[in-house]
Amino acid sequence: MSSVPSSIQSPIQRRVTVPVRIGPVTAGGGAPIVVQSMTNTDTADVAATVRQVAELAEAGSELVRITVNTESAARAVAQIRSTLDAQGCNVPLIGDFHFNGHRLLTDYPDCAQALAKYRINPGNVGSGATRDSQFATMIEIACRYDRPVRIGVNWGSLDQDLIVRMMDENARSAAPLSAERVMHEAMVESAVANAARAVELGLPKDHVILSCKMSGVQDLIAVYRMLAARSDHALHLGLTEAGMGSKGIVASTAALAVLLQEGIGDTIRVSLTPAPGEARTREVQVAQEILQTMGLRSFAPMVTACPGCGRTTSDTFQHLAQDIQGYLREQMPHWRSRYPGVETLQVAVMGCVVNGPGESKHANIGISLPGNGERPSAPVFVDGEKVATLKGDDITAQFKRMVDDYVERHYG
Ligand code: SF4
Repeated sequence: MSSVPSSIQSPIQRRVTVPVRIGPVTAGGGAPIVVQSMTNTDTADVAATVRQVAELAEAGSELVRITVNTESAARAVAQIRSTLDAQGCNVPLIGDFHFNGHRLLTDYPDCAQALAKYRINPGNVGSGATRDSQFATMIEIACRYDRPVRIGVNWGSLDQDLIVRMMDENARSAAPLSAERVMHEAMVESAVANAARAVELGLPKDHVILSCKMSGVQDLIAVYRMLAARSDHALHLGLTEAGMGSKGIVASTAALAVLLQEGIGDTIRVSLTPAPGEARTREVQVAQEILQTMGLRSFAPMVTACPGCGRTTSDTFQHLAQDIQGYLREQMPHWRSRYPGVETLQVAVMGCVVNGPGESKHANIGISLPGNGERPSAPVFVDGEKVATLKGDDITAQFKRMVDDYVERHYG
């Protein structure tokens, strides 16, 4: 199991104030698993980047990564930080560096200072003779500013010298491995060897986070199992290039759930491709829902709802479930500070009396709508007891008032 020594939480998580509940399964050595996201704005555009970082943080992202790819981007970072601070948004920023990070971090000390963590892709640090010195420059700057570094390997940009060498060695071996297995080995070797190099250069061991992102679910699981077995650094999990819509969500969930269940992972990101016009914050919501449905953390009240069937031929029940789910999420920005613990609230919205009362009794508060042919009334259960029967055209409004009342009485 990977672990997060307390000292690594200081630079990364010092600003994280979200209350957490650790469920029956914990990853990261018992520390809360942190939700991370990444902007897709031009970092040089301070206003747009500030706006998106704030949106991601408001949605619950506890770390936000921004691209630092040009001089104008590096120049903007300190201003992005100070603007966010002035707005009261103190989410830590991670700088994502490729190819020229050594130069940007050297030439823009305000940028190095403003970032809470640096992500270095060892496949994009340089090649040949320059590689070692450029990597060393970034690690030395991380040491100077006491910043943690994520050694972030990605199979799309794996160190070509390394993979060629390992493929050649494998070809000469008496019992050669499959090309896929050599690729996995190379991913892990790149992460572990570069982490060792960073520590040799003086970066404290607990300031090194590793990731080995791949886009195939089985590849990712295999690589992270190897990585967790060969390293005790904190691990950042994510299925890279997960894709759009339900495919991206399902693939990310399938991969991350297996690893989290095995206690592997300290920070997670869900790399969804937003549909045109879709909010970037969707990836934060999905990451939270993965953790919450697994019982690892709680972020917002969850609604248990049945799928409906031939007993629910009107869409009243679907509207109620959607309204209540949306209402609970909308309230969270206000409820979070006012009602500590409200994120653990369980609400049930059920379609008929077959499973409705039973499921409602297991929730903190639940409603069971009338199915076809049932009496036009909706029993409401609070902490397992039937307390009311709602009737009329405004059942949704009546039920919301009962939810508000429950929240006030139990978390106020
Ligand atoms: S609870 Fe009732 S409406 Fe919902 S799926 Fe079961 S039988 Fe159908």
